[in-house]
Amino acid sequence: MNADAMAPTSDAIVIGAGIVGASTAYQLAKTGRRVTLVDKAAGPGYGSSSASSGVIRFEYTLPTSVIVAWEASHMWADLRSYLGAGEDEGLARFHRNGKIMVDCPAFPRSVLRAHFDDIGIDYEEWDADELERRIAGIDAGRFHPPKPIDSEAFWDEPDGRVGAVYTPQAGFIDDPRLACENFANAARRAGARACYRAAVTQIARLGRSGWRVGLDTGQCLQAPVVVNAAGPWSPEVNAMAGVGAEFAIATRPLRQEVHAVAAPPGFNPAGSIGPCVADQDLGYYLRPEPSGSLLVGGTEPECDALEWVDGPVDLVNLNRTAELFDKQVTRAGRRLPGLAIPPRPAGVVGVYDVATDWTPIYDKTDAPGFFVAIGTSGNQFKNGPIIGEFMAAIIAAVESGHDHDAAPVQYTGRVTGRTVDLGFYSRLRSPAPNSGTVSG
Ligand SMILES: Cc1cc2nc3c(=O)[nH]c(=O)nc-3n(C[C@H](O)[C@H](O)[C@H](O)COP(=O)(O)OP(=O)(O)OC[C@H]3O[C@@H](n4cnc5c(N)ncnc54)[C@H](O)[C@@H]3O)c2cc1C
Repeated sequence: MNADAMAPTSDAIVIGAGIVGASTAYQLAKTGRRVTLVDKAAGPGYGSSSASSGVIRFEYTLPTSVIVAWEASHMWADLRSYLGAGEDEGLARFHRNGKIMVDCPAFPRSVLRAHFDDIGIDYEEWDADELERRIAGIDAGRFHPPKPIDSEAFWDEPDGRVGAVYTPQAGFIDDPRLACENFANAARRAGARACYRAAVTQIARLGRSGWRVGLDTGQCLQAPVVVNAAGPWSPEVNAMAGVGAEFAIATRPLRQEVHAVAAPPGFNPAGSIGPCVADQDLGYYLRPEPSGSLLVGGTEPECDALEWVDGPVDLVNLNRTAELFDKQVTRAGRRLPGLAIPPRPAGVVGVYDVATDWTPIYDKTDAPGFFVAIGTSGNQFKNGPIIGEFMAAIIAAVESGHDHDAAPVQYTGRVTGRTVDLGFYSRLRSPAPNSGTVSG
């Protein structure tokens, strides 16, 4: 049979059932499209989303990123009705335990204040005394810039004191993998079908009929629209489709570890959970677990080498390493001297899908019908719900003939009423002038 004459199996194929793909499938299915959500794993959320710390915060360098994170946080806060989930479905939970951003040059208080005042985000400014009063056992010394932990300078006395900006409505999603399942279930209720344990191995353009997507199961899917939501594997998927030549922003996988340690005495106030902490003064972040332990990750301090992945993502070493464990946990221990450092690393290994400017690409491509939701740069789990809305808006406009490159689609936030110019996420943009790290 002539390939062009073959009937499409769906209106849209979404490759990847992480938070980005599951959310995109949900929003596309809600608009009446027949959607197929494909993932090579056994179910939704087993890629980088499952390793996510799930922190929801509002400190970004650029105002658009702050508005988007704030809007998305309200979707998480009302997840059951947002997804139309029944009372019997267990949902991932948004814990609003608050977050502190320790003073650091990359995020001056003047910038945070300007964003938060403008958008209406609650915050408190703490000086060093208040920081020590509010977080039991914390050392408010200033250590910036972060130093290698095996250097003598790391143990130098602090050269001043730091305070912090506290955002009480920040927090974390306690089960990022379950959140993906919740979005995939919502997509199914809206009519999408899911295809798990099915790796995409071939993508071919079929003239005007769209795309044929070959799976390792031997099955072939066909649709006019394909969305690459393959997270850190997204460069491999773009390469299969032969797209990306025009991109001004590249993406590259970066290996990461997050370590689990017991919280020091007093960190979690009686009956509640202590705040998440971002500490670029020392180069780590932490977020509490509902169980009372802490997850400790890194903020890519300049003094540490990064583990870029230049081979296949499937070959990344998924074992925790003593070296990274020592780095991250020792940094956290400098701030929280009561932190007991366990003898063996515990935690998870994950991979970021890092864009040149640590800002994602949510966009069309030069290949008709091929869209990308990639480059989430270690900081987009929090935006999972709204990313689906962005992609559905871009796809609807482009498929009805709109030139999104020349006149980017505009999205209006339901909480702030602010307009988000989706050209912010263009593949053709000049690199965004942000912190150049996971903080965005
Ligand atoms: C350690 C770590 C900590 C993080 N912490 C935070 C945080 O605190 N806050 C925050 O906002 N963000 C955080 N992030 C970032 C956030 O988790 C990611 O931005 C987000 O989860 C990316 O989702 P995704 O759907 O794009 O990718 P993924 O979840 O990786 O989904 C991609 C999916 O594509 C599938 N796939 C790939 N190739 C193929 C193929 N050929 N065929 C079929 N399926 C395929 C994979 O199996 C996978 O399920 C963190 C990330 C990591 C790794």
